[in-house]
Order: sequence, then structure tokens, then C-alpha cells
Amino acid sequence: MSGCVIVGAGQAGFEAAAALRAEGYREPVALIGDEPHLPYQRPPLSKGFILDKQGMDEIELRPPAFFSDHRIDLVTGDRVTDIDRAAKRVLLASGGSRSYDALVLACGARNRLLPVPGADLDGVVYLRTLDESRTVKQRLQDANDIVVVGGGFIGLEIAASARSLGKSVTVLEAQARLMPRVVAPLVSAFYDTLHNGRGVTVVCDACVTGIGGDAGRARAVTLSSGASYAADLVVIGIGVIPNAELARDAGLDTGNGIVVDEYLQTSDPAIFAIGDCAEHPNPYAGGRVRLESVQNASDQARAVAAAIAGKRAPYAAVPWFWTDQFDVRLQMAGLSRGYDEAVTRGNPDAQKFSVYYFKQSRLIAVDSINRPADHIVARRLLSSHARVTPAQAADETVNLKDLRI
Ligand SMILES: Cc1cc2nc3c(=O)[nH]c(=O)nc-3n(C[C@H](O)[C@H](O)[C@H](O)COP(=O)(O)OP(=O)(O)OC[C@H]3O[C@@H](n4cnc5c(N)ncnc54)[C@H](O)[C@@H]3O)c2cc1C
Repeated sequence: MSGCVIVGAGQAGFEAAAALRAEGYREPVALIGDEPHLPYQRPPLSKGFILDKQGMDEIELRPPAFFSDHRIDLVTGDRVTDIDRAAKRVLLASGGSRSYDALVLACGARNRLLPVPGADLDGVVYLRTLDESRTVKQRLQDANDIVVVGGGFIGLEIAASARSLGKSVTVLEAQARLMPRVVAPLVSAFYDTLHNGRGVTVVCDACVTGIGGDAGRARAVTLSSGASYAADLVVIGIGVIPNAELARDAGLDTGNGIVVDEYLQTSDPAIFAIGDCAEHPNPYAGGRVRLESVQNASDQARAVAAAIAGKRAPYAAVPWFWTDQFDVRLQMAGLSRGYDEAVTRGNPDAQKFSVYYFKQSRLIAVDSINRPADHIVARRLLSSHARVTPAQAADETVNLKDLRI
């Protein structure tokens, strides 16, 4: 038996390897990653790691002994370049190859690059990997004026971290409000006020047209409006592109990622895809979606491991996500895309409230700000498809925990 080969040693790849062993899978397991590190988690890279609150011991998913103890053949610093589907073999950049019975693609995503003049200047950085986080952390020491391009989760987390270090910080967001694709206007407005209140300058409708510099170093970011913002460090956080090329070149179906079915299986039954790179049917999205979250990577990893170990079941976990900015935690359950009504529970002025999103009177998502109990209940309500009305959600005297289908 050749066993299972996992491509990508990030959150999803690591969890799949660990879950295979937890499922009692006895065949060989190879986990191949192109980064030169032990598998690690990314969330601290824009928060605790930059602020020196979390060290490597908290970032690495497991110590080295875990891999040998669980007979996981961990290969780091090597890249899978090709899949030979006929021979059921992957080829490595180092020249080697590995045979598989089951292949799991957990290739993640890479930074979307900002296509403007000056984006290649020294002092323009991105944040996806541990190495990039180390660069940002080191550059932040000497930088004074930080411009963050992109007002999504990662951009805002970096902005909060940099501001906590006492830096002058400007966030430039191309859309009319912060995090526009994922939260209601009320939540965007809350974050605008939060960041402004802590001294971050937030500029929306900001179309970046260039980065100016001298002596090869970034000095200012320019907008189409003609406005210019001084910068000695420019951090770009404008989203990611799924790593689907390996699958596409092997003739597998790809779209906005590697296309899989409800069992996370690609168009080749021996090959699966999970995590940030997988475009999967999701009951909470009402269609196909690609999600970028630890929950999705971990739950899909466990689902695929169960399937490979012979316990196949459709993937149907409730999506959830969190982001920490300053001392505020936003936890999101479900997917709010396409909502037609949103109601608030709690008090935004006290920085403790939740927003309940409904579509055709059905609860589809809940964003909770500093209300962890609401988040836990929300996950239960969504997974049990409990009936909640907007009036009940908005009424603090109604105990939502007690509501049933
Ligand atoms: C800075 C930052 C902060 C985040 N914060 C949060 C948060 O607060 N909450 C949350 O839920 N999510 C957060 N996320 C998102 C979350 O970390 C990702 O959704 C998760 O890491 C996805 O895991 P993955 O294994 O699918 O992809 P990745 O973690 O990207 O891992 C994929 C790995 O595969 C490697 N690879 C790709 N192609 C090959 C190949 N051909 N051969 C070998 N190796 C290959 C890549 O280099 C990478 O190491 C954050 C992400 C970032 C970058």
C-alpha cells in the first residue's frame, strides 16, 4: 500500500495527517510542505506574534516528536510540482516522487499582488507566511508611518497591531466601507469608529494608483483622487488567490479553487482538496464556496480523513471565523452573504453586541462582538436549523438557547 500523500503542510494538511492517525489509518502518511518550517498556525501572524505576545512554541501546531510518534513522514522545504494521475504519483521539486492510494491537496492560497507602479519598492510587504510576518515585525521596529492597503480582516488586524506599537497608521480601503463583503454596514461602521478612536486613519473609496519612493524605498502611497499618504512601510492585504494550478495542470476541475463535491473529492476519486484551496458545495452558502478560515481547514481535514479511513459523510459543518483587533473580538457564525434583514442584540456603544442576519425570514448568520456566549448559541441555532424570528433575536429577554426547530 502506498497510503496517503498530503500536499501542503499548513493548517488543513497538518490536521488531515493528524486526523488520519486518530481515525486509526495504518498506511503510510506523507505530509509535504514547501515552507521550511514545522506546520504552524497563521492567525497569530497578524496579531500576537507581531506584538511579541505569542512565540514560536504557541505558533507551531505540534513539536517535531509528534510527527515521528505518529508515523507522519513530514517533508518540509520541498514542493510538489506535478501529479501523475495514471501512475498515482506526485513529483517533487527536489527530484524525488511519492506514490499514493489517496492524495489530499491542501495547497492553501497565496497573496494577491497589488498591480500598481512602485509595488516592488523596498518597504512594500505582504503577510501570509511566517517569514513574511517576521519581516513585518522587524520592519515595524524602525517604521513610523504605516500604510495598510486593504480594509479586510488581515489589513485591519495589522493596522491594530501596528497602532498598538504606537505607530502612525493609515488604512486605505477601495470599497465604501470596511470588510464590505462579509459584514453588515453597522459592523463596518463599528470598526471604522473603533479604529479611528484608537488613532488609525481610515480612508474608504480609496483607489491606490501608485507607490512613490526614493533610493528604491517606499515613501508614499498615492490615490486616484490625487491624495498621497506618507509611508515608510506599506503592508498590502488585498486578498488571496487559491493555489489551484497543480490540480488544474493535472486535468482536475478548477474554478475559484479546486472543485470538489460534498465529500471533498475532486473530479478524480483518488484525489481530495481541502481548506483555502477547495471550492466546495456548502449548505450554509446555498451553493459552491471557497472559505478561508481555520474552522473550514480543520473540519474539512477531519472529514477527508474520515472518508479515506472508510467513514464517508457529506461535509456540512457550520462555518465560523474570528478576528481580534485591539481588545475587540468579532466571532462570526454562518455566512451572511445575500441576507435581506439584519437585527441587533445588545449595545454597540458598550462594544458588546451581535448582529443576526436573516434571508427570507431564516437565520443564516450571526456576528458577535465581545459576546462569546451569543456566538456559541448561534452555532447551535444554525446547525440545528432552529426557528428564530428577527424579533426574538433582537429581544434580550428571549433566551435564544431555548429555541428549537
Ligand atoms: C495573517 C493571517 C491571519 C489569519 N487570521 C485568522 C483568524 O483570526 N481566524 C481564522 O479563522 N482564520 C485566519 N486566517 C486564515 C487561516 O489561517 C487560513 O484559512 C488557514 O491557514 C488555511 O489553511 P490551509 O492549510 O488551507 O492553507 P495554508 O495555511 O495556506 O497552507 C497551505 C500550505 O501549502 C503549501 N503549498 C502550496 N502548494 C504546495 C505544493 N505544490 N507543494 C508543497 N506545498 C505547497 C503552502 O506554501 C502552505 O504552506 C488567517 C490567515 C492569515 C494569513
